[in-house]
Amino acid sequence: MSLNKKFDFIIVGQGLAGTLLAHDLIDANKSVMIIDFNLKASASRVAAGLINPISMKRCIPAIPSFYLPKCFERYRDLEKKLDSSFLNLTPLLRLFDSTDTNDKWKDKYISGGMDIYIKEFIIDNSFSFLDDSSSSAIIEPAGHLDVINFLDLSRIYFSKKHFLLEEKFDFSQFNDSKISYKNYIADAIIFCEGFRVRENPYFNYLPITPTKGEVMTIRIPSLEYFDKIVSKGVYIIPLGNYLYKVGATYNRTDFTDKLTKEGQVFLNKKITDILNVDYEVVSSVAGVRPTVRDRKPLIGMHPKNPRLGIFNGLGARGVLIGPYLSKQFSKVLSGVHNQELDFETIARFS
Ligand SMILES: Cc1cc2nc3c(=O)[nH]c(=O)nc-3n(C[C@H](O)[C@H](O)[C@H](O)COP(=O)(O)OP(=O)(O)OC[C@H]3O[C@@H](n4cnc5c(N)ncnc54)[C@H](O)[C@@H]3O)c2cc1C
Repeated sequence: MSLNKKFDFIIVGQGLAGTLLAHDLIDANKSVMIIDFNLKASASRVAAGLINPISMKRCIPAIPSFYLPKCFERYRDLEKKLDSSFLNLTPLLRLFDSTDTNDKWKDKYISGGMDIYIKEFIIDNSFSFLDDSSSSAIIEPAGHLDVINFLDLSRIYFSKKHFLLEEKFDFSQFNDSKISYKNYIADAIIFCEGFRVRENPYFNYLPITPTKGEVMTIRIPSLEYFDKIVSKGVYIIPLGNYLYKVGATYNRTDFTDKLTKEGQVFLNKKITDILNVDYEVVSSVAGVRPTVRDRKPLIGMHPKNPRLGIFNGLGARGVLIGPYLSKQFSKVLSGVHNQELDFETIARFS
């Protein structure tokens, strides 16, 4: 077969990771071919898209503070590029489970530097449709991304302007010394396959420990829209038109997209703990997060072949951390700067 199509990069996987990286490389004037097949249980298409900068359990920042503005900035840029809107800035209402938790948060607010995220404490019983009897606090900025809309619009953009091959990447057709796949050839290939990196013969040595999650869409007939994301064990995200997304569960043993009885019971129990009003379940979905044991992303080039790369391991906060990590990695890939990445690469496992 003759090699007739040359690209700077081949990207395998058009989930959140592959999509962000493809946009960054294209914006750096690189030619990119994306190979993606919508496989079952992929994370991005079920993710609720929550952008929450803090760890609710410990009331500490979940990420370095500069990730948040970079994330908002990048999605706003991409909204302009794709001529649409998918980023929603919405404050988060944290419901406390006890007055002890409330006191702990007040301490962190006064002396723990958390005043940059905690905007206000709210007295108990302020919202009639919620059980906020132990009071609550507002976290801002926060928000959520309509991930499916972002991926679908990007897919249209990639297939119109660049190159999108809709098939399952077949490793038996890949030549790792030429970086050729079927009749395509590239300078480098970057794998962004989410938890399916476990099937990748080059990177399956990395310690990915996937976590399945289930998410539910509910309808609250008495509440057309609440202008905050509610959080207490689960998050309830307002979608508009009486609809809310609720998630999520964590399961480390089952990697299918099948809903489980335990997952559905868990979500319904959490919802009834939070809401004082009736709701109906509209639909539920499940997917598998590409989580890593040390909770750090899997980014970098293969230790034995520097033309094979990986952008993965975005974990449970991919929407928030993905834009910064993708931008930094794309700069190194496109030779904009040679400086060291300011986060740990997969070299930590060699
Ligand atoms: C239930 C649930 C809720 C979540 N909620 C949130 C949230 O609220 N906020 C947040 O920030 N994050 C959330 N996440 C995490 C977030 O979804 C992930 O961090 C992110 O989507 C990972 O993206 P990815 O591109 O690495 O993987 P994926 O989304 O899994 O994408 C991988 C892509 O590669 C394709 N692919 C794989 N192998 C091949 C192959 N051989 N050939 C061709 N294509 C292939 C797949 O089909 C898929 O399209 C959630 C995840 C789950 C499961």
